[in-house]
Amino acid sequence: MANEIMIQSFEWDTDGSGNFYKKLKEDAKNLKENGIDGIWLPPMTKGGSDMDVGYGVYDLWDLGEFDQKGTVRTKYGSKKDLIEAIKALKEAGIRTYADVVLNHKGNADFTEEFKAIMVDQNNRDQDVGEASDIEAWTGFDFKGRAGKYSDMTWHYYHFSGVDYDVKTETPAIFRILGDGKYWDRDVSSEKGNFDYLMNCDIDHDHPEVIEEIFKWADWFIDETGVDGFRYDALKHISSDFIRDLTTHIIKDKGKENFYLFGEFWQYNKEEISAYLEKTDYKIDLFDVPLHFHMQEASKSMGNYDMRNIFDNTLVKDFPAQAVTFVDNHDSQPGQSLESWVEDWFKEIAYALILFRKDGYPCIFAGDYYGLKGEVKTKPMYDKLNTMMEVRKNHNFGDEDDYFDHPSVVGWVRRGDGDHSPLAVLISIKDAAEKQMFVGKAYAGSTFIDKSGKNDPVKIDGEGNGLFTVGPGSVTYWVKEK
Ligand code: CA
Repeated sequence: MANEIMIQSFEWDTDGSGNFYKKLKEDAKNLKENGIDGIWLPPMTKGGSDMDVGYGVYDLWDLGEFDQKGTVRTKYGSKKDLIEAIKALKEAGIRTYADVVLNHKGNADFTEEFKAIMVDQNNRDQDVGEASDIEAWTGFDFKGRAGKYSDMTWHYYHFSGVDYDVKTETPAIFRILGDGKYWDRDVSSEKGNFDYLMNCDIDHDHPEVIEEIFKWADWFIDETGVDGFRYDALKHISSDFIRDLTTHIIKDKGKENFYLFGEFWQYNKEEISAYLEKTDYKIDLFDVPLHFHMQEASKSMGNYDMRNIFDNTLVKDFPAQAVTFVDNHDSQPGQSLESWVEDWFKEIAYALILFRKDGYPCIFAGDYYGLKGEVKTKPMYDKLNTMMEVRKNHNFGDEDDYFDHPSVVGWVRRGDGDHSPLAVLISIKDAAEKQMFVGKAYAGSTFIDKSGKNDPVKIDGEGNGLFTVGPGSVTYWVKEK
Protein backbone atom coordinates (compact mmCIF):
# COMPACT_ATOMS: atom_id res chain seq x y z
CA MET A 1 0.00 0.00 0.00
CA ALA A 2 1.35 3.40 -0.95
CA ASN A 3 1.50 6.40 1.34
CA GLU A 4 0.67 4.64 4.59
CA ILE A 5 0.12 6.68 7.72
CA MET A 6 0.41 5.65 11.35
CA ILE A 7 -1.05 7.39 14.37
CA GLN A 8 0.28 7.34 17.91
CA SER A 9 -3.11 6.95 19.53
CA PHE A 10 -2.30 8.47 22.91
CA GLU A 11 -0.47 11.31 24.64
CA TRP A 12 0.68 11.50 28.27
CA ASP A 13 -2.64 12.96 29.45
CA THR A 14 -5.01 10.88 27.35
CA ASP A 15 -8.33 10.24 29.11
CA GLY A 16 -7.75 7.85 32.01
CA SER A 17 -11.36 7.03 32.86
CA GLY A 18 -10.99 3.56 31.40
CA ASN A 19 -12.94 4.30 28.23
CA PHE A 20 -10.02 4.67 25.81
CA TYR A 21 -10.39 1.23 24.19
CA LYS A 22 -14.16 1.62 23.92
CA LYS A 23 -13.75 4.94 22.11
CA LEU A 24 -11.13 3.46 19.79
CA LYS A 25 -13.52 0.69 18.86
CA GLU A 26 -16.20 3.25 18.00
CA ASP A 27 -13.73 5.41 16.11
CA ALA A 28 -12.00 2.68 14.07
CA LYS A 29 -13.88 3.18 10.79
CA ASN A 30 -13.62 6.93 11.04
CA LEU A 31 -9.85 6.77 11.57
CA LYS A 32 -9.47 4.62 8.48
CA GLU A 33 -11.59 7.00 6.43
CA ASN A 34 -9.42 9.88 7.61
CA GLY A 35 -6.37 8.11 6.21
CA ILE A 36 -4.94 6.09 9.10
CA ASP A 37 -3.46 2.67 8.17
CA GLY A 38 -1.61 1.76 11.34
CA ILE A 39 -2.10 2.55 15.00
CA TRP A 40 0.44 2.58 17.82
CA LEU A 41 -1.49 1.55 20.89
CA PRO A 42 -0.35 2.42 24.43
CA PRO A 43 1.37 -0.19 26.64
CA MET A 44 -1.37 -2.70 27.44
CA THR A 45 0.19 -4.31 30.49
CA LYS A 46 -0.71 -3.61 34.10
CA GLY A 47 1.29 -0.84 35.73
CA GLY A 48 1.28 0.64 39.22
CA SER A 49 -2.32 1.91 39.22
CA ASP A 50 -5.33 2.60 37.02
CA MET A 51 -3.64 5.90 36.05
CA ASP A 52 -0.31 4.39 34.98
CA VAL A 53 0.38 5.54 31.41
CA GLY A 54 1.82 2.06 30.95
CA TYR A 55 5.55 2.52 31.27
CA GLY A 56 5.65 1.50 34.94
CA VAL A 57 5.10 -2.13 33.95
CA TYR A 58 4.16 -4.39 36.84
CA ASP A 59 2.83 -7.55 35.17
CA LEU A 60 3.30 -8.41 31.47
CA TRP A 61 0.57 -11.06 31.67
CA ASP A 62 -2.12 -8.77 33.04
CA LEU A 63 -3.78 -6.82 30.23
CA GLY A 64 -6.57 -5.50 32.43
CA GLU A 65 -7.83 -8.89 33.62
CA PHE A 66 -6.77 -9.34 37.25
CA ASP A 67 -7.32 -7.39 40.44
CA GLN A 68 -3.77 -6.18 40.95
CA LYS A 69 -2.36 -2.82 42.08
CA GLY A 70 -5.86 -1.81 43.17
CA THR A 71 -7.46 -2.21 39.77
CA VAL A 72 -8.63 -4.78 37.25
CA ARG A 73 -8.60 -2.44 34.24
CA THR A 74 -5.60 -0.42 33.11
CA LYS A 75 -5.73 3.31 32.40
CA TYR A 76 -7.22 2.43 29.01
CA GLY A 77 -9.84 -0.18 29.90
CA SER A 78 -10.29 -3.89 30.45
CA LYS A 79 -8.70 -6.74 28.54
CA LYS A 80 -12.10 -7.47 26.97
CA ASP A 81 -12.35 -3.86 25.74
CA LEU A 82 -8.82 -4.10 24.39
CA ILE A 83 -9.47 -7.26 22.39
CA GLU A 84 -12.68 -5.77 20.97
CA ALA A 85 -10.92 -2.54 20.00
CA ILE A 86 -8.15 -4.42 18.19
CA LYS A 87 -10.72 -6.53 16.39
CA ALA A 88 -12.63 -3.43 15.26
CA LEU A 89 -9.44 -1.68 14.13
CA LYS A 90 -8.35 -4.72 12.14
CA GLU A 91 -11.78 -5.05 10.56
CA ALA A 92 -11.56 -1.41 9.53
CA GLY A 93 -8.25 -2.21 7.80
CA ILE A 94 -5.93 -0.65 10.37
CA ARG A 95 -2.80 -2.48 11.47
CA THR A 96 -2.37 -2.52 15.25
CA TYR A 97 0.98 -2.07 16.96
CA ALA A 98 1.49 -2.68 20.68
CA ASP A 99 3.86 -0.58 22.76
CA VAL A 100 6.08 -3.19 24.39
CA VAL A 101 8.05 -2.17 27.46
CA LEU A 102 10.76 -4.73 28.18
CA ASN A 103 13.48 -2.64 29.80
CA HIS A 104 12.19 -2.59 33.35
CA LYS A 105 9.55 -3.58 35.84
CA GLY A 106 8.17 -1.43 38.63
CA ASN A 107 5.71 -1.42 41.51
CA ALA A 108 7.08 -4.62 43.07
CA ASP A 109 5.15 -6.60 45.69
CA PHE A 110 7.88 -6.91 48.31
CA THR A 111 11.46 -5.98 49.11
CA GLU A 112 14.45 -8.32 49.04
CA GLU A 113 17.97 -8.11 50.43
CA PHE A 114 20.93 -8.75 48.15
CA LYS A 115 24.47 -7.69 47.32
CA ALA A 116 24.89 -4.64 45.13
CA ILE A 117 27.32 -1.84 44.45
CA MET A 118 26.62 1.82 43.89
CA VAL A 119 27.76 3.23 40.52
CA ASP A 120 28.54 6.73 39.33
CA GLN A 121 25.29 7.86 37.71
CA ASN A 122 27.23 9.66 34.98
CA ASN A 123 29.50 6.68 34.31
CA ARG A 124 27.77 3.44 35.17
CA ASP A 125 30.94 1.44 34.48
CA GLN A 126 32.48 3.21 37.47
CA ASP A 127 31.74 1.62 40.86
CA VAL A 128 31.48 3.85 43.91
CA GLY A 129 32.69 2.48 47.26
CA GLU A 130 32.32 -1.15 48.32
CA ALA A 131 29.70 -3.79 47.63
CA SER A 132 27.11 -4.08 50.37
CA ASP A 133 23.81 -5.72 51.25
CA ILE A 134 21.00 -3.45 50.18
CA GLU A 135 17.23 -3.85 50.39
CA ALA A 136 15.10 -2.97 47.39
CA TRP A 137 11.66 -3.48 45.87
CA THR A 138 12.52 -6.35 43.52
CA GLY A 139 10.06 -9.11 44.48
CA PHE A 140 7.08 -9.81 42.21
CA ASP A 141 4.66 -12.65 42.98
CA PHE A 142 1.51 -11.44 41.17
CA LYS A 143 -0.86 -12.89 43.79
CA GLY A 144 -3.90 -11.44 41.99
CA ARG A 145 -3.09 -13.50 38.90
CA ALA A 146 -2.32 -16.65 40.91
CA GLY A 147 -0.08 -18.30 38.31
CA LYS A 148 -2.48 -18.04 35.37
CA TYR A 149 -0.61 -18.01 31.99
CA SER A 150 2.78 -18.15 33.76
CA ASP A 151 3.97 -19.20 37.21
CA MET A 152 7.24 -17.30 37.15
CA THR A 153 7.83 -14.97 40.06
CA TRP A 154 10.50 -12.32 39.66
CA HIS A 155 13.37 -11.68 42.07
CA TYR A 156 16.43 -9.49 42.37
CA TYR A 157 18.57 -11.90 40.35
CA HIS A 158 16.33 -11.33 37.29
CA PHE A 159 17.36 -7.69 37.35
CA SER A 160 20.64 -5.88 36.88
CA GLY A 161 20.01 -2.66 38.77
CA VAL A 162 17.76 -0.64 41.04
CA ASP A 163 17.68 3.00 42.09
CA TYR A 164 16.86 2.91 45.80
CA ASP A 165 18.19 1.19 48.93
CA VAL A 166 15.33 0.96 51.40
CA LYS A 167 17.69 0.07 54.28
CA THR A 168 19.76 3.22 54.16
CA GLU A 169 17.13 5.30 52.35
CA THR A 170 19.65 6.02 49.61
CA PRO A 171 18.53 7.06 46.14
CA ALA A 172 21.35 6.05 43.79
CA ILE A 173 21.93 3.63 40.96
CA PHE A 174 22.96 0.23 42.35
CA ARG A 175 24.29 -2.56 40.17
CA ILE A 176 23.08 -5.94 41.39
CA LEU A 177 25.93 -8.40 41.94
CA GLY A 178 26.02 -12.09 41.06
CA ASP A 179 28.12 -14.71 39.35
CA GLY A 180 29.19 -13.30 35.96
CA LYS A 181 26.49 -10.66 36.28
CA TYR A 182 26.93 -7.18 34.80
CA TRP A 183 24.92 -4.55 32.96
CA ASP A 184 23.70 -5.57 29.49
CA ARG A 185 26.83 -4.79 27.49
CA ASP A 186 25.34 -4.15 24.05
CA VAL A 187 23.44 -0.99 24.95
CA SER A 188 23.99 2.72 24.32
CA SER A 189 27.41 3.87 25.50
CA GLU A 190 25.99 7.13 26.81
CA LYS A 191 26.85 7.47 30.53
CA GLY A 192 29.47 4.75 30.09
CA ASN A 193 26.81 2.07 29.84
CA PHE A 194 23.17 3.15 29.54
CA ASP A 195 21.57 -0.18 30.49
CA TYR A 196 19.94 1.37 33.53
CA LEU A 197 16.99 3.69 32.89
CA MET A 198 14.49 3.29 35.75
CA ASN A 199 12.79 0.97 38.24
CA CYS A 200 14.07 -2.64 38.33
CA ASP A 201 16.24 -2.97 35.24
CA ILE A 202 15.59 -6.34 33.59
CA ASP A 203 18.67 -8.56 33.10
CA HIS A 204 18.32 -9.72 29.49
CA ASP A 205 21.18 -12.20 29.90
CA HIS A 206 19.33 -14.26 32.50
CA PRO A 207 18.08 -17.51 30.90
CA GLU A 208 14.81 -17.49 32.88
CA VAL A 209 14.12 -13.94 31.75
CA ILE A 210 14.80 -14.76 28.10
CA GLU A 211 12.57 -17.83 28.23
CA GLU A 212 9.77 -15.94 29.97
CA ILE A 213 9.74 -12.97 27.60
CA PHE A 214 9.82 -15.18 24.48
CA LYS A 215 6.94 -17.21 25.90
CA TRP A 216 5.10 -14.02 26.77
CA ALA A 217 5.57 -12.57 23.26
CA ASP A 218 4.06 -15.71 21.69
CA TRP A 219 1.11 -15.59 24.07
CA PHE A 220 0.62 -11.85 23.74
CA ILE A 221 0.54 -11.93 19.94
CA ASP A 222 -1.99 -14.78 19.90
CA GLU A 223 -4.11 -13.32 22.67
CA THR A 224 -4.38 -9.79 21.26
CA GLY A 225 -3.96 -10.33 17.53
CA VAL A 226 -1.70 -7.28 17.17
CA ASP A 227 0.22 -6.81 13.91
CA GLY A 228 3.41 -5.37 15.33
CA PHE A 229 5.49 -4.18 18.26
CA ARG A 230 6.76 -0.73 19.05
CA TYR A 231 9.75 -1.53 21.25
CA ASP A 232 10.20 0.96 24.06
CA ALA A 233 13.56 2.27 25.33
CA LEU A 234 15.85 0.36 22.96
CA LYS A 235 18.88 2.38 24.02
CA HIS A 236 18.74 0.60 27.35
CA ILE A 237 18.15 -3.00 26.23
CA SER A 238 20.66 -5.53 24.91
CA SER A 239 20.59 -5.36 21.11
CA ASP A 240 21.38 -9.10 21.00
CA PHE A 241 18.27 -9.79 23.02
CA ILE A 242 16.10 -7.62 20.77
CA ARG A 243 17.60 -9.19 17.64
CA ASP A 244 16.90 -12.69 19.01
CA LEU A 245 13.36 -11.84 20.10
CA THR A 246 12.66 -10.28 16.71
CA THR A 247 14.04 -13.32 14.90
CA HIS A 248 11.96 -15.54 17.18
CA ILE A 249 8.76 -13.70 16.27
CA ILE A 250 9.47 -13.60 12.53
CA LYS A 251 11.00 -17.06 12.11
CA ASP A 252 9.97 -19.38 14.98
CA LYS A 253 6.51 -17.97 15.34
CA GLY A 254 6.23 -17.52 11.57
CA LYS A 255 4.99 -13.93 11.72
CA GLU A 256 6.74 -12.81 8.55
CA ASN A 257 4.76 -9.61 8.16
CA PHE A 258 4.87 -8.62 11.81
CA TYR A 259 5.99 -4.99 11.89
CA LEU A 260 8.75 -4.22 14.37
CA PHE A 261 9.87 -0.71 15.09
CA GLY A 262 11.31 1.02 18.07
CA GLU A 263 12.37 4.00 20.04
CA PHE A 264 16.11 4.56 20.08
CA TRP A 265 16.24 8.10 21.46
CA GLN A 266 19.49 9.28 19.97
CA TYR A 267 20.51 12.34 18.00
CA ASN A 268 23.75 10.79 16.82
CA LYS A 269 23.24 8.97 13.56
CA GLU A 270 26.29 6.73 13.96
CA GLU A 271 24.81 5.08 17.05
CA ILE A 272 21.51 4.67 15.26
CA SER A 273 23.06 3.06 12.20
CA ALA A 274 25.15 0.78 14.43
CA TYR A 275 21.94 -0.30 16.13
CA LEU A 276 20.20 -1.06 12.83
CA GLU A 277 23.17 -3.21 11.85
CA LYS A 278 23.27 -5.04 15.19
CA THR A 279 19.61 -5.95 14.84
CA ASP A 280 20.09 -7.16 11.24
CA TYR A 281 18.00 -4.30 9.79
CA LYS A 282 14.87 -6.12 10.97
CA ILE A 283 13.63 -3.19 13.05
CA ASP A 284 12.58 0.27 11.90
CA LEU A 285 13.37 3.21 14.15
CA PHE A 286 11.83 6.57 14.85
CA ASP A 287 13.66 9.39 13.08
CA VAL A 288 14.81 11.15 16.24
CA PRO A 289 17.39 13.36 14.45
CA LEU A 290 14.66 14.77 12.18
CA HIS A 291 12.49 15.49 15.24
CA PHE A 292 15.34 17.47 16.80
CA HIS A 293 16.00 19.35 13.56
CA MET A 294 12.34 20.36 13.42
CA GLN A 295 12.40 21.45 17.05
CA GLU A 296 15.56 23.48 16.46
CA ALA A 297 14.05 25.13 13.39
CA SER A 298 10.88 25.94 15.34
CA LYS A 299 12.92 27.75 17.98
CA SER A 300 15.24 29.57 15.59
CA MET A 301 13.15 32.72 14.94
CA GLY A 302 13.45 31.91 11.25
CA ASN A 303 17.23 31.53 11.31
CA TYR A 304 17.54 27.76 10.92
CA ASP A 305 19.04 26.74 7.60
CA MET A 306 16.22 24.72 6.09
CA ARG A 307 18.52 23.38 3.37
CA ASN A 308 19.96 21.09 6.05
CA ILE A 309 16.76 19.87 7.67
CA PHE A 310 17.15 16.33 6.31
CA ASP A 311 20.93 16.09 6.77
CA ASN A 312 22.03 13.20 8.97
CA THR A 313 18.49 12.01 9.46
CA LEU A 314 17.29 8.44 9.34
CA VAL A 315 14.83 9.13 6.55
CA LYS A 316 17.64 10.42 4.35
CA ASP A 317 20.18 7.71 5.04
CA PHE A 318 17.94 4.71 5.82
CA PRO A 319 14.72 5.67 4.01
CA ALA A 320 13.20 2.20 4.26
CA GLN A 321 13.67 2.05 8.02
CA ALA A 322 12.50 5.43 9.20
CA VAL A 323 9.32 6.14 11.11
CA THR A 324 9.07 9.90 10.82
CA PHE A 325 7.25 11.84 13.51
CA VAL A 326 6.88 15.36 14.83
CA ASP A 327 6.33 14.84 18.58
CA ASN A 328 5.32 12.09 21.01
CA HIS A 329 4.22 11.43 24.60
CA ASP A 330 7.78 11.89 25.90
CA SER A 331 8.66 15.03 23.92
CA GLN A 332 5.47 16.86 24.91
CA PRO A 333 5.72 19.66 27.52
CA GLY A 334 6.52 18.47 31.04
CA GLN A 335 7.65 14.97 30.03
CA SER A 336 10.98 13.18 30.33
CA LEU A 337 12.34 13.98 26.87
CA GLU A 338 10.65 17.36 26.47
CA SER A 339 11.58 18.79 23.09
CA TRP A 340 8.29 20.14 21.75
CA VAL A 341 8.15 21.41 18.20
CA GLU A 342 6.60 24.86 18.54
CA ASP A 343 3.03 25.33 17.42
CA TRP A 344 3.68 27.73 14.51
CA PHE A 345 5.99 25.12 12.95
CA LYS A 346 3.65 22.12 13.33
CA GLU A 347 1.99 22.34 9.92
CA ILE A 348 5.40 22.78 8.30
CA ALA A 349 6.68 19.75 10.24
CA TYR A 350 3.75 17.61 9.13
CA ALA A 351 4.35 18.68 5.51
CA LEU A 352 7.95 17.50 5.95
CA ILE A 353 6.80 14.01 6.93
CA LEU A 354 3.49 13.57 5.06
CA PHE A 355 4.40 14.98 1.64
CA ARG A 356 7.70 13.18 1.09
CA LYS A 357 8.51 10.00 -0.78
CA ASP A 358 10.33 8.34 2.11
CA GLY A 359 9.47 7.43 5.67
CA TYR A 360 6.47 5.94 7.44
CA PRO A 361 4.92 9.05 8.98
CA CYS A 362 3.36 8.83 12.44
CA ILE A 363 0.97 11.55 13.50
CA PHE A 364 0.64 12.25 17.22
CA ALA A 365 -2.66 12.18 19.14
CA GLY A 366 -1.40 15.20 21.07
CA ASP A 367 -1.36 17.15 17.80
CA TYR A 368 -4.40 15.53 16.18
CA TYR A 369 -6.76 15.94 19.14
CA GLY A 370 -4.74 18.60 21.02
CA LEU A 371 -2.92 18.12 24.33
CA LYS A 372 -5.39 17.71 27.20
CA GLY A 373 -3.15 18.02 30.27
CA GLU A 374 -1.80 21.07 32.06
CA VAL A 375 -0.50 22.44 28.78
CA LYS A 376 -3.35 22.47 26.30
CA THR A 377 -2.99 22.90 22.55
CA LYS A 378 -5.47 23.40 19.74
CA PRO A 379 -6.43 20.21 17.89
CA MET A 380 -5.02 19.96 14.36
CA TYR A 381 -7.78 17.46 13.55
CA ASP A 382 -9.22 19.16 10.46
CA LYS A 383 -5.86 20.36 9.20
CA LEU A 384 -4.27 16.91 9.54
CA ASN A 385 -7.25 15.25 7.89
CA THR A 386 -6.74 17.55 4.89
CA MET A 387 -3.01 16.84 4.89
CA MET A 388 -3.61 13.08 5.07
CA GLU A 389 -6.04 13.35 2.16
CA VAL A 390 -3.37 15.21 0.16
CA ARG A 391 -0.83 12.50 0.96
CA LYS A 392 -3.20 9.72 -0.06
CA ASN A 393 -4.22 11.31 -3.36
CA HIS A 394 -1.31 13.42 -4.52
CA ASN A 395 1.98 12.16 -3.06
CA PHE A 396 3.33 10.17 -6.01
CA GLY A 397 6.17 10.04 -8.51
CA ASP A 398 9.64 11.52 -8.61
CA GLU A 399 10.62 14.03 -5.97
CA ASP A 400 12.35 17.22 -7.15
CA ASP A 401 13.83 19.26 -4.31
CA TYR A 402 14.30 23.02 -4.35
CA PHE A 403 16.31 23.26 -1.14
CA ASP A 404 18.16 26.30 -2.44
CA HIS A 405 17.50 29.05 0.12
CA PRO A 406 18.16 29.11 3.90
CA SER A 407 14.60 29.98 4.89
CA VAL A 408 12.55 29.08 1.80
CA VAL A 409 12.51 25.50 0.54
CA GLY A 410 10.12 23.57 -1.64
CA TRP A 411 9.69 20.38 -3.56
CA VAL A 412 7.48 18.77 -6.17
CA ARG A 413 6.18 15.24 -6.25
CA ARG A 414 5.88 14.88 -10.00
CA GLY A 415 2.90 12.55 -9.99
CA ASP A 416 2.46 9.41 -12.08
CA GLY A 417 0.07 8.01 -14.69
CA ASP A 418 -2.83 8.12 -12.24
CA HIS A 419 -1.95 11.12 -10.08
CA SER A 420 -1.22 14.77 -10.83
CA PRO A 421 1.74 16.49 -9.12
CA LEU A 422 1.96 18.02 -5.64
CA ALA A 423 4.03 21.16 -5.03
CA VAL A 424 5.03 22.14 -1.49
CA LEU A 425 6.54 25.46 -0.42
CA ILE A 426 7.81 26.38 3.04
CA SER A 427 9.09 29.66 4.40
CA ILE A 428 10.24 29.91 8.00
CA LYS A 429 10.91 33.64 7.70
CA ASP A 430 9.40 36.15 5.25
CA ALA A 431 6.65 35.77 2.68
CA ALA A 432 8.20 34.26 -0.45
CA GLU A 433 7.64 32.84 -3.90
CA LYS A 434 9.48 30.17 -5.79
CA GLN A 435 9.28 28.88 -9.32
CA MET A 436 8.99 25.11 -9.46
CA PHE A 437 8.49 22.76 -12.40
CA VAL A 438 5.43 20.54 -12.24
CA GLY A 439 5.65 19.11 -15.76
CA LYS A 440 5.09 20.21 -19.34
CA ALA A 441 1.86 18.25 -19.48
CA TYR A 442 0.40 20.71 -16.97
CA ALA A 443 1.10 23.88 -19.01
CA GLY A 444 -1.87 26.21 -18.80
CA SER A 445 -3.54 24.38 -15.90
CA THR A 446 -4.42 25.87 -12.53
CA PHE A 447 -3.02 24.69 -9.19
CA ILE A 448 -4.89 25.39 -5.99
CA ASP A 449 -3.49 25.74 -2.47
CA LYS A 450 -4.90 22.85 -0.42
CA SER A 451 -3.72 24.57 2.77
CA GLY A 452 -6.43 27.13 2.00
CA LYS A 453 -4.18 30.15 2.29
CA ASN A 454 -3.24 31.52 -1.12
CA ASP A 455 -4.84 32.25 -4.48
CA PRO A 456 -4.57 29.71 -7.32
CA VAL A 457 -1.45 29.65 -9.52
CA LYS A 458 -1.45 29.33 -13.31
CA ILE A 459 1.19 26.97 -14.74
CA ASP A 460 3.12 28.62 -17.60
CA GLY A 461 3.74 27.22 -21.07
CA GLU A 462 6.94 25.48 -19.92
CA GLY A 463 5.24 23.68 -17.04
CA ASN A 464 6.49 25.99 -14.28
CA GLY A 465 4.44 27.48 -11.49
CA LEU A 466 5.34 30.53 -9.42
CA PHE A 467 4.16 29.32 -6.02
CA THR A 468 3.68 31.58 -3.02
CA VAL A 469 3.86 31.23 0.75
CA GLY A 470 3.31 33.58 3.69
CA PRO A 471 5.80 34.22 6.51
CA GLY A 472 6.48 31.21 8.77
CA SER A 473 4.12 29.07 6.75
CA VAL A 474 3.60 26.23 4.31
CA THR A 475 1.44 25.89 1.20
CA TYR A 476 0.71 22.69 -0.74
CA TRP A 477 -0.62 22.79 -4.26
CA VAL A 478 -2.48 20.36 -6.46
CA LYS A 479 -4.11 20.61 -9.86
CA GLU A 480 -7.59 22.06 -9.79
CA LYS A 481 -10.20 19.41 -10.54
CA1 CA B 1 18.16 -1.96 30.66
